[in-house]
Amino acid sequence: MNQRSFVVTIDGPAGSGKSTVAKRIARYLRLPYIDTGAMYRTVAWVALQKLKSLDDTAALVDIANSMGFRFESDAHDFRIFYCYAGSEYKLLGTEIRSPEISMASSYVAQESVLREILVKKQQEIGKMNGGVLEGRDAGTVIFPKAEIKFFLTASAEVRARRRYDELLLRLGVEAPNFEKVLADVKKRDQQDEEREASPMVAAKDAEIIDTSGLDENAVFDKLLDIIKRRGFKPLG
Ligand code: C5P
Repeated sequence: MNQRSFVVTIDGPAGSGKSTVAKRIARYLRLPYIDTGAMYRTVAWVALQKLKSLDDTAALVDIANSMGFRFESDAHDFRIFYCYAGSEYKLLGTEIRSPEISMASSYVAQESVLREILVKKQQEIGKMNGGVLEGRDAGTVIFPKAEIKFFLTASAEVRARRRYDELLLRLGVEAPNFEKVLADVKKRDQQDEEREASPMVAAKDAEIIDTSGLDENAVFDKLLDIIKRRGFKPLG
């Protein structure tokens, strides 16, 4: 890792506001933004196309082993590229953001051998230039010695409402109804919290932020305040 780089981890359940704030913090600190959930989503997305069953662990492992990921950003955008089985890197889009892939990614993420493969890739990426890592186990497993750790929470209803608004904007009339989104959020929480392999839990030294009553700017300001108080500055 470049001597002045460092790692910030932002963990928490779906809809807690991680992605939005992680991107803003990464931009502010001039660190790479690393969306670890996108890696589970991409494996699940490829698996749904190639496999008959998501329970075929050996095949899932093959897929994960033969995938590469690159996270890039410029002044306007954050982009994720993936490659599969030696293909050229391709840009990932909203194909991995559907409710079906959300559930499938949480399902495959229960598999410990698969997690080991992705965690190794996440550590390699993060070690290059540091980064702001967003996920479920970034501060507990991927980078337990991260310089700053956050764990974001919010009530299931608030998180489901955020997800629902997002899906409505993206899918319009095709969006599932609120009750379905809430049920999915609760099911995914349960799956992520109760799995044996690296269950979602706040690291002991994480700053826990309840984002329930806060808008995006207020969440950003809270994290930024802690980062500044700890003496971390933008790389530059
Ligand atoms: O963060 P996101 O909702 O995109 O993650 C999709 C799923 O991937 C989560 O529900 C979780 O099961 C899994 N995941 C994980 N560990 C991470 C990131 C995501 O298990 N570090």
